Amino acid sequence: MDLLGVLLWLCLPARWMAVLSSGAVTMTRKVTLVQRSLQNIVGSSPKIEVKSFENWAESLKEDVVFTASPKSVREIQRIVFAALLCRKNVRVVGSTHSWSSLFTDSEQIQINLGNMTLEGGKRVILQPGEYPGYRTVRIAPGVTVGELNDLIVPLGFTLRSGPSIKEATVLGAIATSSHGAMVNEPAIGGYMTGARFVDGWGKILAFNEDTDPEVLKALRCNLGLLGVVFEFELKIFPQEQVNSCGILTPLKTLFNPEFLRNAVSKNNFVLILSASYSSLTEKEARSVLETGKVPTTWDSGNDIVLINIVDPDATPDSLNTSDDPLPEDVTVVSTGQEFYKFIKGFPRALKGINLTDAIYLDTAVLGPKFLASEYTFPEKTDFKRSANALKEFSRFMNEKSHTEGILPFTRFVARWVKGTDCFLCPTSNPTSLKVAGDAGHFTTLGMDGVIDTLQEGPGFSYTMHKLVEAWDNLGLEGTLHWGKITEVTNFKEKIKTYFRHDLGFFENIRRKIDPHGVFMNDYLSYLYDAFNNVN
Ligand SMILES: Cc1cc2nc3c(=O)[nH]c(=O)nc-3n(C[C@H](O)[C@H](O)[C@H](O)COP(=O)(O)OP(=O)(O)OC[C@H]3O[C@@H](n4cnc5c(N)ncnc54)[C@H](O)[C@@H]3O)c2cc1C
Repeated sequence: MDLLGVLLWLCLPARWMAVLSSGAVTMTRKVTLVQRSLQNIVGSSPKIEVKSFENWAESLKEDVVFTASPKSVREIQRIVFAALLCRKNVRVVGSTHSWSSLFTDSEQIQINLGNMTLEGGKRVILQPGEYPGYRTVRIAPGVTVGELNDLIVPLGFTLRSGPSIKEATVLGAIATSSHGAMVNEPAIGGYMTGARFVDGWGKILAFNEDTDPEVLKALRCNLGLLGVVFEFELKIFPQEQVNSCGILTPLKTLFNPEFLRNAVSKNNFVLILSASYSSLTEKEARSVLETGKVPTTWDSGNDIVLINIVDPDATPDSLNTSDDPLPEDVTVVSTGQEFYKFIKGFPRALKGINLTDAIYLDTAVLGPKFLASEYTFPEKTDFKRSANALKEFSRFMNEKSHTEGILPFTRFVARWVKGTDCFLCPTSNPTSLKVAGDAGHFTTLGMDGVIDTLQEGPGFSYTMHKLVEAWDNLGLEGTLHWGKITEVTNFKEKIKTYFRHDLGFFENIRRKIDPHGVFMNDYLSYLYDAFNNVN
């Protein structure tokens, strides 16, 4: 910090008092004053700019945030230092694909690391050392899932976990414990073996899984609370040739636990996508338009789901289901019916393709921008919990649709993943859970709904809240995806019971790394009651 910076900092409290007590000073002047103070402390680079912010889904907005795109670690350190001095919070932004309020609050500092590289301008560096079944790569902070795969596939490697979309940054996905649909793979953070970051004092820290396993367990789902990660190391795996099959079947097929157990135990990857209201007949659709309610002749158990299995041995007939597509020309009263066209057109059988091509998607194929929430619970080897949860979902859809009309759920996404060695991952298998998954597997049931629903009616968050209540009543003891919509009234209580002592372990590490809470925001402060009151 230069001398001017020190002087400005010393002046800040008095200036703020003047600003706040003076009606003559406009909001714009206040923002300009803070921006100049930050810039003076940071120096000439990076530029601190005043911008508005919106996430990918356009569901979260801030009119004024201070943004910076540092190109070096020194620049990150200076920003954190400036934030400390000006009593501002810092949040890093990835590709903004989260739906929950993990982002920068109004008039706080947002760091974008998209321009940063490793030495020699490289984004990804393959590390020396052969390990049984994997290699490691060092990665720059803004690298996306798609960019990483594009760089490692020509070298004969692939990622095996992470969100199914290519656009998310790997670090953003790690921060929220994102996962794919590979049955025996953990959330993506499970593959992080080390990281370097700037802490809440502006100091550089480095940790790796051999010497600091507890810190790694915290970093694997860090919610952006453990500093600015500027470099990290991740396991990658030899590429595989696989078959990918798309099987269509009515939702009610999934109510049979033996069917689910068979599908999940025989395949490396199982992704189920439903198309809500796809079984509506023309007569029923017209009745929806006339009455606003879905007639009781419709049963969601007949809606069509796509089962996408990926495995070296996968074949379309291996699941023994009937593939009997429905007519597409029914009057559209729900976006779920539109999504049916996608699942109907999904390839029935692709042979000998790269695993990477089989398990990652372009977001565009999912249709218009949407909202999403996800409920995760531990599974047992008999898969009865998943089958019950899906049956309950169908009962919920029927009851609410018959009485309230079309619900704002376009589709659900069902996946099964392995536990992660991590404190805050919903798939972390905390020892305190009463119903530990005996196979170490977790079921994740995601709900997607378009923002611009075709009908009036209860909102997405409210409907999800009611569905979560129904699932909780089955005793599933689930929790929600940190990066997706978490607006259920008991979320704070839920994380307290789900993670229990692991919250305390995480908090001990966070407090050492960021004692002044520079990396906090309002939403996480609100949830923090749960972290601090663990008994
Ligand atoms: C269309 C779509 C499909 C999706 N599919 C899946 C899916 O299949 N599975 C799944 O689990 N999730 C899925 N998600 C959720 C998504 O994976 C997460 O929300 C993920 O966090 C998004 O990454 P991002 O780069 O956009 O991060 P952002 O949303 O921008 O940020 C998320 C968090 O990462 C932190 N962060 C980012 N970079 C750093 C850094 N360098 N240092 C410290 N903290 C950092 C931020 O502070 C923030 O808290 C999907 C989201 C969308 C929009």
